[in-house]
Amino acid sequence: MSIITAADPRIVQLNELLAGSKRVAIVGHYNPDGDAIGSTLGLALVLKAAGHTVQVVMPNPAGAFLSRLAGYSEIVCFTERPAAAIEVIKKCDVLFCLDFNRSNRTGGLEEVVGAAEVRVLIDHHQDPEQFTPVMFSDTSACSTCQMVFDIVTAMGLSDLITQDVATSLYTGLVTDTGSFRFRSTTAHTMKVGAALIEKGVDIEAVHSSISDDNTEDRLRLLGFTLSERMQVLPEYSTVIISLAKEDLKRFNFKQGDTEGFVNYGLSIRGIRLAAFFVERPDMVKISLRSKSNLFVDKFLGENFSGGGHRNAAGGQDEGPLQSTVDRFISLLPGLISEFPA
Ligand code: 5GP
Ligand code: MN
Repeated sequence: MSIITAADPRIVQLNELLAGSKRVAIVGHYNPDGDAIGSTLGLALVLKAAGHTVQVVMPNPAGAFLSRLAGYSEIVCFTERPAAAIEVIKKCDVLFCLDFNRSNRTGGLEEVVGAAEVRVLIDHHQDPEQFTPVMFSDTSACSTCQMVFDIVTAMGLSDLITQDVATSLYTGLVTDTGSFRFRSTTAHTMKVGAALIEKGVDIEAVHSSISDDNTEDRLRLLGFTLSERMQVLPEYSTVIISLAKEDLKRFNFKQGDTEGFVNYGLSIRGIRLAAFFVERPDMVKISLRSKSNLFVDKFLGENFSGGGHRNAAGGQDEGPLQSTVDRFISLLPGLISEFPA
């Protein structure tokens, strides 16, 4: 872990980049999660208060619980307003790229994000592409929200962390650490959490907003998924869950409804790997979660055009669903033997 300080040359550079009043755009990844929305909205509020013109841009909308965070309604989404989203990025002086580290993670914004001249990266995923002139890439950080807190503090802007900013950053801390339980949770994470609570976070409200936000449809889809669409492969300590388009339709699927389903597989005693496959209109989306000594990010990069973290990563395949699952099963012995228990 490297905690960023005011003396870090990148902080000096960042303060120089932001000298005066700048047009700032902040972008997160496709299918933004709590960390992507929390970090972009938190940083946006701080930089606005510091006197900049700031616009958050997302490739597509987030799940319902995140839309309650302060500033969410002002986000320009590419899927809703493509021309406006592209314009914001083309016209900005500084583009902040948060919680992703390859342009192809930004869906329809890939080209314009790739072409931006002044790109500041703040991210914790493995294997970043080059961002210039400033890169904060820390794969040991539990979340981008924690990094934003450290960077804002190192920049001397911690007084601008209001209750709204703190609530956004705390949300990302909670979602990316599985409520402070993953190995990436460190003493420093707890200190950042404590500092955010001191800024006024209502932790009960945040947890309730994240965890008690099921629709009846989503809960029934979860029940159906676990009873009808889950396959346990004890010989590989693996669980596979797959959902077809028709399954989603039956339960009136809304964006974000299957978020977290993959974790249920990993909660079975003795299971080291959980794989989740869901049929999307144009591809099959894959999510993998694993126990600590089994790494999945490279496997997804090599076989399913994906990546992410060692124990939580995603990818995609052209499908159809069953062929993707079959291909995964055929590759499974190789993956498991590479990382014996
Ligand atoms: P999820 O399985 O929840 O979609 O994603 C798990 C982690 O892997 C997240 O940090 C996410 O940003 C990353 N991830 C998901 N899909 C992809 C992908 O297709 N490519 C890369 N590089 N990362 C991904
Ligand atoms: Mn993250």
